[in-house]
Amino acid sequence: MTDALDHVLACVEARREDVVELLQELVRVNSVNPEFAGVRREDVIGGETRANEILRERYEQAGLETHWVAPDPERRNLVGKRKGRNGGGRSLALNGHVDTVPPVDPDNWVNGNPWNPEIRDERLYGIGSTDMKASDAAMWLVAQALTDAGIELEGDLLLHSVVGEETMQHELGTSAVLEAGFTADAAIVTEPTSMPGLSQKVWSSVAITASITNGGTSANMTGSRSSRPRTPIRDPSLAYTVVRCESSLRSPLSSSAVKW
Ligand SMILES: [Zn+2]
Repeated sequence: MTDALDHVLACVEARREDVVELLQELVRVNSVNPEFAGVRREDVIGGETRANEILRERYEQAGLETHWVAPDPERRNLVGKRKGRNGGGRSLALNGHVDTVPPVDPDNWVNGNPWNPEIRDERLYGIGSTDMKASDAAMWLVAQALTDAGIELEGDLLLHSVVGEETMQHELGTSAVLEAGFTADAAIVTEPTSMPGLSQKVWSSVAITASITNGGTSANMTGSRSSRPRTPIRDPSLAYTVVRCESSLRSPLSSSAVKW
């Protein structure tokens, strides 16, 4: 396992420039949420889909099967699926959103304008670069590095790249993807926000999703920033696994993807 992990991490490192380039491509796309207060839909509609079209090319490059899910045809969610060996193992979903909030004071950004992905001192500036296009790019890199390393997982790996998160429109985004059948035994919402106390709520919600799914009833994954645990965690060991996945995903990338 250690050899496999080292190999995957080396493949991650080898793709460093590639993933930064992808992040820059994504930041250049104005994917402001068209339903955000003060935003005119006609000014920004289609941006979320364009971001997902960029990701779709990368998903396919990584060997993923891709699917569109679009209750609103102008706001398309992307799903990538990397099939596991014989479909016998547990499945894992990584979930991220491509919409952003509108920029504050767009004429006074240090990088010239919000959609100019300028790199200064190894930091990339641009709207949505943290929340959460860097994670969107990293999700692709998980799948790409596994493929580069020739790793075959036991279960399916799913990537959900959804719309509508910034306005809580889960019925157009994550819920639509799940209702279309792209569920998994566990999920990691790769939202990077690190406000005190917030990530615990988000990850608790993820763990609950996992236990509900295992119970055989319909899953309802809520990855949004304001999600709250609504039922007790029924399977602590599973919750622990999910939390471990999260921490290993962050530094530097995904030993859990191999273990899963
Ligand atoms: Zn976010």
